[in-house]
Amino acid sequence: MRYTVLSLFPEMMDAFFAGSIIAKAISRGIIAYRSVNIRDFADDKHRTCDDAPYGGGPGMLMMAEPLGRALESVGAWNRLEPRGVVPAGTKPRVIYLSPSGRPFTQNKAEALAREPELILLCGRYEGIDQRIIDAFVDDEISIGDYVLSSGEAAALVVIDATYRLVDAVITPASLEEESFSGGLLEYPQYTRPEMYGMLKVPEILLSGHHENIRRWRLTKRVEKTRALRPDLIRRGEEAGFFDEETRNIIAALQGTAGSEGEI
Ligand code: SAM
Repeated sequence: MRYTVLSLFPEMMDAFFAGSIIAKAISRGIIAYRSVNIRDFADDKHRTCDDAPYGGGPGMLMMAEPLGRALESVGAWNRLEPRGVVPAGTKPRVIYLSPSGRPFTQNKAEALAREPELILLCGRYEGIDQRIIDAFVDDEISIGDYVLSSGEAAALVVIDATYRLVDAVITPASLEEESFSGGLLEYPQYTRPEMYGMLKVPEILLSGHHENIRRWRLTKRVEKTRALRPDLIRRGEEAGFFDEETRNIIAALQGTAGSEGEI
């Protein structure tokens, strides 16, 4: 997987790629990263990349021309200028990070992790000229219902959530029971010491009984999801997503005193 990030401040991203697991994945040749400074594609001596919006209104917008040149320089395809038959697998996916994009989810991260290359476009100011979205962007992605001042932090969220799902970056067992896998949140975890102040590690985790531990963990996943994210339980039920064991635990919990909002 190759990540190409287009930004007015690419240095904001660099420290992340020097970090432990991703740096190792880069040195092993599994992940590649390049950043592009959009300002390098401005055509005046002030390297201007923003201008006032047509029709008036507050703030500035990122201009189409520098952005278009920057995108073309990294191999993005302008769909308004067809180049004939596109050979399969040669068109890198272009993502614009935007508060008005579709919400980013674990499912989306899994789909994007299968792409050979992602081009991530970081906005600033009031955003970017719509024609860049029309011509180049495959996905508009929002990392949440709030407005950031720029797209770099959002691009890092997408990169961090996807690179760890790329084959061979981390061991598959580490991903199996994570939050959202199987439509549930993760179970609570403990490490040494056995006593922390008055709090003891649950006895069952010290028992060495693998089947009981597996069952306890699944029950805790359901309890936690029911308390913190009842929407996930509802969605999983509606989609017929849960196996019989999980359905039985949900049904048993529904008959107990604890209500949603409590563990
Ligand atoms: N005027 C825009 C609006 O109201 O939708 C907000 C622009 S915001 C100040 C500047 C840039 O930050 C955007 O172009 C986008 O790249 C990024 N950004 C802000 N919030 C985001 C979010 N929730 N998810 C992804 N990117 C976001």
